[in-house]
Amino acid sequence: MARAGVVYLVGAGPGDPGLMTARSLELIAAADSILYDRLIPPAALAGARGDAELRYVGKEPGDASVPQDRIHEELVSRARRGLSVVRLKGGDPFVFGRGGEEAEALRGADVEFEVVPGVTAGVAAPAYAGIPVTHRDDASAVAFVTGHENPAKDETALDWDALARFPGTLVMYMGVKNLPAVTGRLAGAGRDPDEPAAAVERGTLAGQRHVVATLGTLAQAVADAALKPPSILLFGPVAARRDSIAWLDRRPLHGKRVVVTRARAQASGTAATLAALGADVVELPAIRIEPRIDSAEVRDAVEALHAYALVCLTSPNGVHLLFEAMAAAGRDARALAQAQVAAIGPGTAAALREHGVIADVVPERSIAEALVAALDQVPVAGKPALVARAAEARDVLPDALRERGAEVDVVALYETVREDPDPEAVEAAMSADYVTFTSSSTVTNFLAVTGGRMPDGARLVSIGPVTSATLAEAGFSAEVEAERHDPEGLVEALLADVR
Ligand code: SAH
Repeated sequence: MARAGVVYLVGAGPGDPGLMTARSLELIAAADSILYDRLIPPAALAGARGDAELRYVGKEPGDASVPQDRIHEELVSRARRGLSVVRLKGGDPFVFGRGGEEAEALRGADVEFEVVPGVTAGVAAPAYAGIPVTHRDDASAVAFVTGHENPAKDETALDWDALARFPGTLVMYMGVKNLPAVTGRLAGAGRDPDEPAAAVERGTLAGQRHVVATLGTLAQAVADAALKPPSILLFGPVAARRDSIAWLDRRPLHGKRVVVTRARAQASGTAATLAALGADVVELPAIRIEPRIDSAEVRDAVEALHAYALVCLTSPNGVHLLFEAMAAAGRDARALAQAQVAAIGPGTAAALREHGVIADVVPERSIAEALVAALDQVPVAGKPALVARAAEARDVLPDALRERGAEVDVVALYETVREDPDPEAVEAAMSADYVTFTSSSTVTNFLAVTGGRMPDGARLVSIGPVTSATLAEAGFSAEVEAERHDPEGLVEALLADVR
């Protein structure tokens, strides 16, 4: 797939990860080394191998960058070392991407290369704004132009008079900084100042913005809206087609920021569905459960299970793992026959029911203090009690039971390991319109990642009563609850709420 000693000049598209080509994803997943630029889609590198070298060689606006010669050297040296190398660029590598220069340098060094075209911003950003760059009635030609050079300067490489006369759409890259000079020069050379014009900022990305004006008014409109790079500028009658073609903002969840917290480490289908409906989806990472049921303490506890007068379980995960450990020891629910069984809340009680055990004690709120209070009536003095829980749990429950005279054993059934939350994603989540919860564990995960906070004013969407109960136990209420308790039902409920 990605061959040793070959450099792949790969276009990553304009920003929307969905516009990356199948070939680009395949190469990113296989490459030994990836040299990438600034304007590549978010998460474009997510599929890279864990041991791949990821090297940023991009340029911040106005900042020094890795010089082009140096990039050539780095590509050549890696290929000569026998690595498969992806040179990843925004948009298309051969459209204002210096891909041509890199290809020539590689040929000069006798390094094999392959070119993987990408969706270029000059076509995609207008398309996402509802502007076709050609149209049978309006434009039979389109020119891609760099706005990098100030037309007021003498050494300009562009023939501005020819561009003014060009019979078709002008699509300009890198033109925001010089916009007043560009529009002034085009109009000065005879292009109609009333011709429709548009600018699209961050095209195809969440938060895309645009303005539609005329050649004469675009500079002011862009300044008023404070559009910044990266933006595409477009001059031509097709800009006026936006009124009849705009589609992005008509999608049902357009402009809504929706948080999806993953229950497990796997990718989330719900996130993809919501994104396809136009939502600005913020995905928060999962918390992984690392079972510890092979430990000696768990084995001993399971061995002695029938001897406990009280067995306390503090999460659904704990319940499932305890039964797994029991099964491994050749036991079943009858091992709990002698014991009072206490669950920390309804979710944990529901998990017990799945294993055929109806909890004797269940407080309404899933916190240790509530369980302590609920256990008030259970005589524990002088009796053996087992608290089976997460390794990192607080000691409120065992301490309280010991104070009442119980002989308490505590075992850790698992440890929760949090994937490092991306601070930007957490911040984005805190300004969400909707937070979705597809299971009780997504509630726990979300609150763990945000430090117990919910975004102000966000509507909370729950997949069903159990998840809503978990939210309630944590002191929050689900404004929207799915009627069908599956991910599709949750999306349906959210859509109904938006309408
Ligand atoms: N090779 C790239 C272009 C690189 S030049 C391509 O084919 O798209 C960088 C310029 O591309 C930016 O200054 C801007 O004009 C444009 N650009 C890149 N991504 C963009 C985006 N998402 N929205 C609007 N313009 C973008």
